[in-house]
Amino acid sequence: MPKYDVLIVGGGVAGLQAALAAKYAGVQVALLSKTHPLRSHSATSSDGLNAAFGSDDSWQQHAQDTIWAGAGLCDHAAVEEMCRAASDDIIRLDHVGVPFNRNAEGKLDRWTLGGNTLPRTAFSADMTGHAVLNTLHEQCMREDIPSHEEWLATSLAVEDGCCRGVLALEFGTGNLEAFSASAVVLATGGTGRVYAPSTASQSCCGDGMSLAYRAGLSLRDMEMVQYHPLGFCERAAFASEGALGEGAVLCNTDGQPVLQANDQPLRDALCRSLASAGDGVALDFRSLGKERIGTRFLYLGRAATEMAGISLDTAPLPVMPRMHRVLGGIRTDTSGATALSGLFAAGECASPGVHGANALTGNALTASVVFGRRAGSAAAAHASNTAPQALTDSALQDAQRTLEAVFSRPTTSGDTVVTIQRALASTMAEHVGLVRDEAGLREAVRCVADLQARYAQVGLRHHGKMYNHELLSFYELGALLDVAGAIVAAAQERKESRGVHYRSDFPATNDAEGSYHSLVTCGPDGPVLTTSPVNTGQSA
Ligand SMILES: Cc1cc2nc3c(=O)[nH]c(=O)nc-3n(C[C@H](O)[C@H](O)[C@H](O)COP(=O)(O)OP(=O)(O)OC[C@H]3O[C@@H](n4cnc5c(N)ncnc54)[C@H](O)[C@@H]3O)c2cc1C
Repeated sequence: MPKYDVLIVGGGVAGLQAALAAKYAGVQVALLSKTHPLRSHSATSSDGLNAAFGSDDSWQQHAQDTIWAGAGLCDHAAVEEMCRAASDDIIRLDHVGVPFNRNAEGKLDRWTLGGNTLPRTAFSADMTGHAVLNTLHEQCMREDIPSHEEWLATSLAVEDGCCRGVLALEFGTGNLEAFSASAVVLATGGTGRVYAPSTASQSCCGDGMSLAYRAGLSLRDMEMVQYHPLGFCERAAFASEGALGEGAVLCNTDGQPVLQANDQPLRDALCRSLASAGDGVALDFRSLGKERIGTRFLYLGRAATEMAGISLDTAPLPVMPRMHRVLGGIRTDTSGATALSGLFAAGECASPGVHGANALTGNALTASVVFGRRAGSAAAAHASNTAPQALTDSALQDAQRTLEAVFSRPTTSGDTVVTIQRALASTMAEHVGLVRDEAGLREAVRCVADLQARYAQVGLRHHGKMYNHELLSFYELGALLDVAGAIVAAAQERKESRGVHYRSDFPATNDAEGSYHSLVTCGPDGPVLTTSPVNTGQSA
């Protein structure tokens, strides 16, 4: 059985930051990830990451913008922690080799993204996530951090009320294995695939959120689902809102602008402008001039439009809002600690409280960098103060029996993992999307329960052990169903509109009753909803 002081589950930006921080703290650390780290979703982050640099900005101003965007649900101490640390973290990334763009003075170049009052988003052309991920991965290799790639964590090993490791399935062999660790950091990313269409990578299935949820932990603020306003109608890609700041124009079918020139609203405001403008909204890049088309902010746009045979310099590009990401996640403190001793979480799977009800564009990657590092350090400190405990065999034996039972299920119903997953994603898009109401949410509760029941019966058509993609999807679907249940429960309970959560039956914000964090835990009969106050005090 592999044994480590700290095991990091997830090889995206948050996981690699955590691994390096734990290594620098002098403990024995390893990574485990279901994709190769360089195929993590972080690689698709194109726009950049926020931090206050230079004399024209301050961490306080960054914090103020973040809290304003969060519409009353940000925990102020967490925001302060992130905004204070962000510039040092980004400078560290610069020093270890991230090729950030520079301005004419040789300083880090910055641009303005949605909701930021100043240019504070550092970027590496149109591939910031890719550049950060590659650089961090190089550092992990340099530090000789062992990496178990194409291993799927299937459950947490919890004994005597403490997390002592994970059970994981090796994709290549189909074997289950127990990994023992004094501390585990979940950095498994987001859960965008719970909706379709979505901008998220195939791997974003809420695995870590589900592992924590099944271990009894709370998922916080799950009703806050952010849409990206500029999804391409025909493709799973989008243009950066930065294009608007640079002069591209959103127009309706009559060619009239939908927004003021160079406006940089928050994503939810932009999505609602598009919804009220009706069908046929298109993004017109022609005013940028030929020489600017094809520069950083159009990278994804170019790839997709070239595939679709559309030329950006001859016609506007039809766009529509697409589900982007869930802003909530596993409840943690600002060091990444969860309520389960030995378990930490960071990155998009976690909720340290910085995003609240809406997030500034560019803050997600910053949160992964800052809280990934903090979680790695805290996990290392925990491991250093914890006597190693051997894992018993019982959890592994249970997991093996469960897997055998899944393989022995009949396939006669005709139901498949894929049909259930598609039904789930379209249910969520239809009833728990940009605009919600009680009738739709009730229907979503019914559908998700029905899909859960089908999932409990579904058989696998492929019984091979090596690289069984259907088995991988089976585990991912279990996670997506857990997450969907949590999103619907929290959305139904919030009877107001706030940030990205818009209810047509409760269109106003209700500060008297809505200023709370939703917390969803796993009860015997489904999701159980409680609330906790928003921490508006400063850090100590
Ligand atoms: C298209 C797109 C563009 C974006 N652009 C920006 C941007 O420009 N700026 C910004 O701030 N934010 C952006 N975001 C958000 C940002 O990309 C993410 O919040 C951030 O990259 C998340 O990093 P992460 O390390 O938490 O997760 P990920 O990068 O998703 O990494 C998760 C890791 O966990 C592994 N994993 C998952 N489940 C398991 C399991 N069960 N067992 C083992 N391993 C597992 C995966 O293989 C992967 O290695 C964007 C989001 C999208 C959808």
